[in-house]
Order: sequence, then structure tokens, then C-alpha cells
Amino acid sequence: PSMDSGNFKQSQHNSNINKPKSEHFARRQNIEQQRKALPIAAVEKLLLEEVRNNDTLIIVGETGSGKTTQLPQYLNNGGFCRDGGIIGITQPRRVAAVTVAKRVAEECGVALGQKVGYAIRFEDVTSSSTRIKYMTDGLLLREALLDSYLSKYSVIIVDEAHERTVHTDVLLGLLKTVQKTRSKGVSDAVKNGMPLEKHNGSEVFSTLKQCRGKKLSPLKIIIMSASLDARVFSEYFGGARAVHVQGRQYPVDILYTRQPETDYVDATLITIFQIHMEEGPGDILVFLTGQEEIESAERLVHERLPQLSESKRKLLTFPIFSSLPSEKQMKVFMPTPIGFRKVILATNIAETSVTIPGIKYVIDPGMVKVRTYEASTGIEPLIIVKTSKAQALQRSGRAGREGPGKCYRLYPESEFDKLKDSTTPEIKRCNLSNVILHLKALGVDDIIGFDFIEQPDRIAIIKSMELLFLLGALTDESKLSDPVGQRMARLPLDPIYSKALIIASEFNCLEEMLIVVAMLSVESIFYAPREKLEESRIALKSFSSPEGDHLTLLNVYRASDEFLQKSNLVNSKEKAEKNLRKWCKENFINSRSLKHARDIHSQIQRNAEQMNLHVTSCGDDMLPFRRCLAASFFLNAALKQPDGTYRALSSGLTVQIHPSSVLFRTKPECIIFDELVRTNHNYIRNISRIDYLWLAELAPQCYALQE
Ligand code: ADP
Ligand code: MG
Repeated sequence: PSMDSGNFKQSQHNSNINKPKSEHFARRQNIEQQRKALPIAAVEKLLLEEVRNNDTLIIVGETGSGKTTQLPQYLNNGGFCRDGGIIGITQPRRVAAVTVAKRVAEECGVALGQKVGYAIRFEDVTSSSTRIKYMTDGLLLREALLDSYLSKYSVIIVDEAHERTVHTDVLLGLLKTVQKTRSKGVSDAVKNGMPLEKHNGSEVFSTLKQCRGKKLSPLKIIIMSASLDARVFSEYFGGARAVHVQGRQYPVDILYTRQPETDYVDATLITIFQIHMEEGPGDILVFLTGQEEIESAERLVHERLPQLSESKRKLLTFPIFSSLPSEKQMKVFMPTPIGFRKVILATNIAETSVTIPGIKYVIDPGMVKVRTYEASTGIEPLIIVKTSKAQALQRSGRAGREGPGKCYRLYPESEFDKLKDSTTPEIKRCNLSNVILHLKALGVDDIIGFDFIEQPDRIAIIKSMELLFLLGALTDESKLSDPVGQRMARLPLDPIYSKALIIASEFNCLEEMLIVVAMLSVESIFYAPREKLEESRIALKSFSSPEGDHLTLLNVYRASDEFLQKSNLVNSKEKAEKNLRKWCKENFINSRSLKHARDIHSQIQRNAEQMNLHVTSCGDDMLPFRRCLAASFFLNAALKQPDGTYRALSSGLTVQIHPSSVLFRTKPECIIFDELVRTNHNYIRNISRIDYLWLAELAPQCYALQE
């Protein structure tokens, strides 16, 4: 009997070890099968050949064919990381960079941040062993400020190039120069007057020392796009070769509404439940325009769910949008539990950049949020507009990846014909001050002469230069000023925010400004559910400052920080964070947004310290802080008019205080605001009271006192 029990013990012991091992093994095998089944797998060898033979290659392939996740792995296996070179892959969106990196790390069987990693603004998950690095296009541009040859990289893949974000466009121009210079060697470049001496900082120096005299390895550039039109990229790169990766697509039934919808969020909800009640199994992908809309749709689904019969309540919702904390983003990829249906509520991130398995139904209200720029007034409102035809097609295509699907367009068919063919590149419709600041810091002085893939409007360039001049970033000769302009270029923020941080250190209130800028950088800190409007108003009151929203945001941050610190003393970190989420809920604060703001805060605090800015506090006296707001946001100043509306001083527009502002009722005489939102009115948001006289005192370049 002792033998038996011994054997029994042993086999139990074995099975304990074996079980996770075999599960792990099954999962790996499963991943391997999935990889082999992707359309791109059939052309791996061919693609490697093409990359070897062409320094610049354009790859066009349908969404979901495996470009983003597979090609970097092929290149790594194909020897393109020899001598320690890194394969960099840029994405227009942070969510894509993060989720894809996680997936690829798993496919490679490595810990994230080791061989495979990612870097986005405010988050760097890479190490010296990283060989495949996913990042945002904006981040690679920032790296170029420190290493103008991008010398770490052997291959740079510009992914989702069809999106034509302003960063992608500038990056393409930069890569063209870098490729030429690297082929020629650094010593040549120095001879030809590449603006090396413009940069200071030890990183540049060490790259220079490494590179001087020796030939850098040539740079391979790969441009990947989901749109079939590769011509513009090919022409831009001197007739570069373009190849096409065949995808797989099942038929998708397109359904339209009979009438235009007045409230598309409501129509979306009705459609979700209609599909859920009447259609067969399969997950639903919904395209909405932003965090606020997604979160309210999510709440509404959960409110209506209890009205269904018990057996029909197996509906799960998953949001995905750019500021969602990264641990939450991965949840959309979790396999749907048996008997359940998943509803994914996404921004246009799910259009081409991330592919979620299991989608059979797509709901497309036909809207998208974009930033626009009006050169005549200099304002840059976020507006919700109709999608283009190309976007509508991409969206519906998501329903037919694994089998036949259905797409519900929440507008009449006749409306589809009226849509624009494709979206205007962002560079044609944005404020260029960031781009100009960046190019100047890279040593490109002649902005109008820069080799853009598509020229921005001259007037927009001039307007943006003017703005930078007024902020003190450019000198009279349009050179980057020292230190203000140099510092502004190094901060990963909009010029006005950078300016606010830089002068806050002089006003001794940088501690406060870092918090406020972090809070302004996230969408919707407060939320006010329709049925609890009164309660949320009372909650807001306990934080609100009579001076305005900026100090109110500061109060929220400090209150949450105090709460967290107290909670940390007696609890584990997880428990403390959980308590904080509860605290947020009680106070009608969006805990996701607050978390994001905390992350941003720690990053920009580090940036500020690296630049030797003094992080000090103004204590209880908020006057210097408010003066500092006036000295940085003076371009967004507005004066009250007799009828209670405001006149924005620099644009001349008539604007109104948004009802969410704590100053909505008080209506002070003179204010500064953070942003203008255009709906049926010109609403301004995040407002603070200032003294009219401060404008002439602190921004004499813009305002003079009238006699
Ligand atoms: P492309 O770049 O050509 O659009 P991708 O490389 O992004 O294609 O996607 C290839 C496949 O990888 C898709 O089938 C997608 O569903 C899958 N995939 C990507 N990320 C994940 C993930 N995190 N979990 C599971 N599958 C994923
Ligand atoms: Mg892709």
C-alpha cells in the first residue's frame, strides 16, 4: 500500500506540473497555427527578398492580412537585426502600438519589453535587448531630435501610412533625408553641412563619436498601407517598388436605414439589441467617435440589459479608445466566453490599426471626430464629421474577415453616395506650430521649402509661425529661440502647454502647472450621468474654485492624491487603487481619465526636471498661478459682452462658456480658455478668470492698453 500511495502522489505531482505546461504548449501551438494561416505567411520568403533588394519598399495589403504583427518577425528571423540593429515600426495610434507589441511578444514567447517592446508618449517599455520596437509616429520624430540619423534602427516600417497623420507625413520627409545621409556616411554629411552642431545633449554627442568617420549601415524603409493607392508613396520615394499582399475577404451584407437618424448613439443602442435578439452568434463591433460617447453607450447598454429575459443577458461590452489604460485595452482580444456575445465599442482605431477576432456584425453610424484648423481665426476645434467612403468601406470590411458578415450603416443609402472619397491628409487641416517647432529643432529652417509629401497651405504655415513667435519660441529671424524655443521643442506637449510649464518655473508655480497640464491633457475628468445630474453637480461643488476650471482640476487631483496616499498607508497597492476607483465613482470622477492624468503627470515632471526647471509650489496664494495662466494662454483670452456671450480676442469669434464649466453662471468679465468645441455653438471649455490688465502686462507682444 505504501508503494501505491507513493505512486499516486507522484502522478499527482506530475499532473500538477504538466497541466500548465501542456496548456502553455497548446496555446503556443495554437498561436503558431494562427500565424501560419495568415495570408502574409504564404509570401514570407518573397517579401524578405523584396526587402533585401530594395532600400525602400511599399507594401499594400488588406487589413488583417498580418502585415503589422508578422513582417517585423520575418525581418528579425531574416537577419535584419544583425549587428544589433533595431526594427522600428511606427503606428499613428498609441493603442495599436501597445496591443500589437503585446501580441507579438506573446507570439515570440518573450516577455514584453525584452526582444519585443513598445514606446509611446509617456510610456517606454523597451530595453537594451529590444529588437522589434513598436511606437507611435510622433515618438520616432521625437527620437530624431536626440539622434538625427536614427542610428539604432536598421529598418523602419511606417505602418498605416494611408492614415496620413501629420506625424507620418513629416516622418516620411525626415526618413528620406536620413536614408540618403546614412548611405553616404556621416563624414560626408558633416562636410555637407548637416546641422549636427545645432543639437546639444550627450546622446547626440555619443552617436556622433560612434559614427564619425565610419559608414553607418544603410537604412531600409518600408511603407505599409491598407489603401490600394500606393502611387503617391512610390512617387515620393523616387519610383520605389510597391508590392501587394493578397488578403481574404468574405461577403458582407450592407444594410442602410430608411431615414437619417437624429441621435446616432440611440440608434446604435437599438441596433445592438436588435442584432442581439434576432441574429445568430458572432460579436459586434461599433464605431463611435470618442471616449465620452463610448462610455455613455456602455452605460446605456448595461442599463437596458436587465430588461431582457435572463437567458438573453449574456452580452459583454468592451471599450477601446486611445486613452484607455493599456491593461484594459487588451481585454477586447479575450476570446468570447461560450454562450456570450461581445460588443466592442471602438473609435476609428478599429478601422484598420487593430484587428479583433470574432467580429461578424459591424455598426457604423458614419461619424468620426477630427481636429480641424481654421487659418483665418487660428482656432483648432474638434468636430464630429461624416466619414469618407474609404473609411465606410474599411469599417464594413471588418465584418467579413472570418466568414460572411453584416454591416449596419446608420444612414440612408443615398447619403453614402454623397460622402467624400477619402479623408483629407491631416497636414492640410491642422495647426502646424508643433510641426514647425519640431522641424526647426531638427535644423530645418526653411519650412516652406521642406520636401513634404503634400505641401501644407502657405497661410497655415505663416499663421503657425506667427503663433510660435507670439509664444516666444521663434526669434525675429524665425530661428528657434534659446532657451524658450529649444525647451518647448523638447517637451512632448502642445506649444501652449509647454510654454505654460516653462514660465511656471519663473512664477514659482510649476508644481501646480504640471498637475493642471496633465489634467488638461486627458478627455473628460468629470462625468455626469443623465439620471444623476443633481448628485454629480453637488459632488463637483466640493472641488470647484471660484477662480475657474483650472484650479478646480487642481483641487480634484490633490484631493485624489491625498486620498490615495492615506489609503496607501494602511492598504496594499492594489487595494489602495481599488479604493481610489471607488472614491472616483462616489465623486463622479472618471477614474480612467484620472489614472491617465497621473501617468502623464509623472512623465512631464521628469521632463521638467531633466531640463532643470524648478519644480516649486506657490502654496496657498493662487495669484501667481493665475497670472501664469494669463501669460501662457493669452492667445485664448475672451471678454464678456453685454449679452453675456464672449468675444475671443485673437480670433474675434463670439463664443460661449460650456455648461460644464464652474464659471458657467458667474460669467466673469475677462477669462482665458483651454479649448474651443464647435457644436451648434462655439463653446469654450476649461476656463479661468483673469484680470484684463494682466494681458497688456504679461503679453505686450499681443495686447496694448488703450488710452
Ligand atoms: P494587418 O497589419 O495586415 O492589418 P495584423 O498583423 O494587425 O494585420 O493582424 C494579424 C492577425 O493577428 C489578425 O488576425 C488579428 O486578429 C491577430 N491579432 C492581432 N493582435 C491580436 C491580439 N492581441 N490577440 C489575438 N489576435 C491578435
Ligand atoms: Mg496593421
